Amino acid sequence: MAKRLCIDPGHGLGNVSPNVYDPGAISAGVSEADVALAYALAIKFVGFERGIDVFLTRDERSDITPVRARDEMATAAGCDLFISLHLNAGVASANGTETFYRDAADKKLADGVQAAVVSALQFRDRKVKLESQSQHRRLSVLDFQGPACLVELGFVTNVGNREKLLLRSSRLAVAHAILDAVIRLYGPLS
Ligand SMILES: [Zn+2]
Repeated sequence: MAKRLCIDPGHGLGNVSPNVYDPGAISAGVSEADVALAYALAIKFVGFERGIDVFLTRDERSDITPVRARDEMATAAGCDLFISLHLNAGVASANGTETFYRDAADKKLADGVQAAVVSALQFRDRKVKLESQSQHRRLSVLDFQGPACLVELGFVTNVGNREKLLLRSSRLAVAHAILDAVIRLYGPLS
């Protein structure tokens, strides 16, 4: 049976505290939450063109999405696969793409998403990593009951990464690459 994909744009309203908008990392006026949302909407749009109904945990800045509820939202929507979109932050020279996963059951998805995003954006390949290597140690979105990963598309704090991430052509390339990878690994999406 065709699988359903959840795309989770990181951060946003009520992410950590009720009624507080969490913008994620901000650099040069660009917020992680907004860029993640733009990529999620691109995946939704490209999916629609390809006959796929991608589920988004939030599709507007006003959506209230506590981080601890997101895996359950995806499950309630009938999703089988879960990809959370984030941007990294660090010193100005830090750059590249990396993907976090929890255990062996998630590694196939993480490997596929990492390769897809690296090929689409051509950023430095920082490889897949266990969530214990992330700054948060435990990522609650990875509680999702099914393959799940969290991709840091690039660094909002790096001018080269940031400028390329803001291009519409980058969003469309990432959207097609992620959908292609998921379909190759898991079969058709509904
Ligand atoms: Zn983030």
